[in-house]
Amino acid sequence: MHRKILPSLSFVCLLLSPSSAAPQSSSAHFRIQTFSSADAQYLRRAFKALEKARKDLLSLGLNPPQRVTVIVHPTLERFQKSLEAPMFEAARANRNLARIETQRFRALEEHGGLEQTLRHELFHLAQPANWPRWKAEGSAVRFSGERLNGVLFENISESKLEALLKNPPSRAVLARAMATALEWVVQNRAISD
Ligand SMILES: [Zn+2]
Repeated sequence: MHRKILPSLSFVCLLLSPSSAAPQSSSAHFRIQTFSSADAQYLRRAFKALEKARKDLLSLGLNPPQRVTVIVHPTLERFQKSLEAPMFEAARANRNLARIETQRFRALEEHGGLEQTLRHELFHLAQPANWPRWKAEGSAVRFSGERLNGVLFENISESKLEALLKNPPSRAVLARAMATALEWVVQNRAISD
């Protein structure tokens, strides 16, 4: 009986107020809201990864927010609907709200890794706001340690790469754009005006 009731209550709480009633827990700088016991099993790892990432960002001279909320959406549908996210997006950082929203932790684990995804998104909350997308994404990938398998775009213009990163037409193109952004960061390419 309770098992049937609890998930729907969680949905209502998510819609009305992300900060109330849903299962959540906190560390020194993070609050994580989960909606299933399957995701809650990853909490210890998630907190450890986030606190470590925060420390690493500070040692790089970046400024992560003092408090960050992580919302782990209960289903792919909820995640996509809430963020109007394309099929291949796994997580998103919102700088204004100091918030990270993700698909289920198990889904992150299957695509790219839980720790890497959290590090990537936290990087976006700490990076300078005025960086172009390629620098932000390439740097986030480098910081996270994610492994990319896209083939680099050769001779692509900065504006074209920015456009692909902003509105990738497919997962394959996004993988190539991210790999190219990482390469530009590794090569320490200058930002053009
Ligand atoms: Zn990113």
